[in-house]
Amino acid sequence: MKLQKPKGTQDILPQDSAKWQYVEQLARDTFKKYRYQEIRTPIFEHYEVISRSVGDTTDIVSKEMYDFYDKGDRHITLRPEGTAPVVRSYVENKFFAPEVQKPVKLYYMGSMFRYERPQAGRLREFHQLGVECFGSSNPAVDVEVMAMAHHLFKELGIQNVTLHLNSLGNSSSRAAYRQALIDYLTPLRDSLSKDSQRRLEENPLRVLDSKEPEDKVAVENAPSILDYLDEESQDHFDQVKELLESLGIPYIINTNMVRGLDYYNHTIFEFITDVAGNDLTICAGGRYDSLVEYFGGPDTPSFGFGLGLERLLLILEKQGISLPLTEELDVYLAVLGSEANGRALELIQALRHQGFTAERDYLNRKIKAQFKAADSFKARTIITLGESEIKAGQVQVKNNQNRQEITVSLEEIEKDFAQVLKNLEA
Ligand code: ATP
Ligand code: MG
Repeated sequence: MKLQKPKGTQDILPQDSAKWQYVEQLARDTFKKYRYQEIRTPIFEHYEVISRSVGDTTDIVSKEMYDFYDKGDRHITLRPEGTAPVVRSYVENKFFAPEVQKPVKLYYMGSMFRYERPQAGRLREFHQLGVECFGSSNPAVDVEVMAMAHHLFKELGIQNVTLHLNSLGNSSSRAAYRQALIDYLTPLRDSLSKDSQRRLEENPLRVLDSKEPEDKVAVENAPSILDYLDEESQDHFDQVKELLESLGIPYIINTNMVRGLDYYNHTIFEFITDVAGNDLTICAGGRYDSLVEYFGGPDTPSFGFGLGLERLLLILEKQGISLPLTEELDVYLAVLGSEANGRALELIQALRHQGFTAERDYLNRKIKAQFKAADSFKARTIITLGESEIKAGQVQVKNNQNRQEITVSLEEIEKDFAQVLKNLEA
């Protein structure tokens, strides 16, 4: 066995983690403006939490689950998505209770696991940022949630992301459409992929979602679900479109988009962008009005999305967007001789406790090597500490950009280094 990472996983290395932190923080700040609060659910769940809510015949459940039996013979799965766990938690923690303000607005970020064929933007462990809004069927909620994703892309400076929109209607619209789709696909049965022949029996809407070329051809002239919306569904969809227009958020209608999970109704959407000639979905979601009831809670209309962080970072890179990351160090402490080791530790701790970022030499290196290290850490100032400095109680503090230097007592530095920096600039 090779001691290497499993296929489809990634180490997020220090040179990249700063980007992750930036994007995560920006998302937190953005979501906060809409009063979303973070929820953290377990990385693994009972298999049944995911299986029937996401749908037994979806790719996620039928092919992609990382499931196993634990030592207590419980059927467990690593979570493949965030919505079902959050809904499970919502019901288990009785967030539906009247004393909890509605709508309940939650967001999460973390690892998801799907056994997929790894490729660009497709991993076996990946990270999602997701939001869920519980307790309102107002189309303004649909639009606000989509606008929030749009807001985040804008803050990041991402271009050319297109909002694809569709409606699945309510359950009666969907039943009518299901029959029309069966009538359309049945004569084409032999031209469908094996998987889609099975889908046709079990869950015909899934054929629309197939990525097999022969299925894509077969569904090209499929009836449009939008022709089967009843009055209530049509009205909801019209309001969503109108509100998007009033916010100036462009969209295109994509009637073959059904999303890879079974729990959606009414509005569904994807934000899609082109990466190296391929359409890649960064963010996807929609309305799921029956899921809370499915988990044993009261009737609770809900709306949410999941956003793939790897794909978001991939797009930032492809679009050449540089993030405003600060990698500077306030102070580098050059340590001359092992006699200064202990005093150096006291001094650098005092700086850190005053709020400065500070690094030092631990390896008793030559002064030149230490100055080089200071440069590579982009240190703004360098303090040099050796036996003679300790005896004198004074050190040189150097501005590492303009090489300006001043002599300061150790006491002053330990009391108020901000003042020392001001004196250095003066
Ligand atoms: P796709 O059609 O690309 O397989 P999906 O419908 O399975 O996507 P969702 O379940 O809606 O995706 O997940 C939401 C988002 O999570 C996707 O839009 C994408 O950004 C991201 N995502 C999904 N699967 C993966 C994966 N295997 N690796 C990386 N990101 C993923
Ligand atoms: Mg998928």
